[in-house]
Amino acid sequence: MIKQRTSRQRQLILDAVCNRCDHPTADEIYLDVREKDNRISRGTVYRNLGVLSENSQVTRVKLPQAERYDSRTDLHYHLVCTCCGSVSDAPIDYLKDFDEIELDNGFVISRHRTIFEGLCSVCRKKKED
Ligand SMILES: [Zn+2]
Ligand SMILES: [Zn+2]
Repeated sequence: MIKQRTSRQRQLILDAVCNRCDHPTADEIYLDVREKDNRISRGTVYRNLGVLSENSQVTRVKLPQAERYDSRTDLHYHLVCTCCGSVSDAPIDYLKDFDEIELDNGFVISRHRTIFEGLCSVCRKKKED
């Protein structure tokens, strides 16, 4: 019985992440899930987000100021607006050829995380006005 409740709640949380493409924070996901199940606690949402990211069902995106969640689980880069904090996916291929970095020093790269910082189109518009 408890197990059933856990998996139902976890599914609700996973759906909430997948329904958004703006890389929400844990708190934003909590607020979305609350609309479907007003008995769910913040702790339950946070804990299940941890499980979902350990299971690679969502990606936890670590940023200098915050952690965000992503329904995309393939490796990709992010664009982060330094003005409003919005996060979007960078439309470029993930670098896979590391020969130049690895060649002589014996280091083998398994993955990398890159964020590009700048101004999003909305914030750029605001600055022009
Ligand atoms: Zn912005
Ligand atoms: Zn992303």
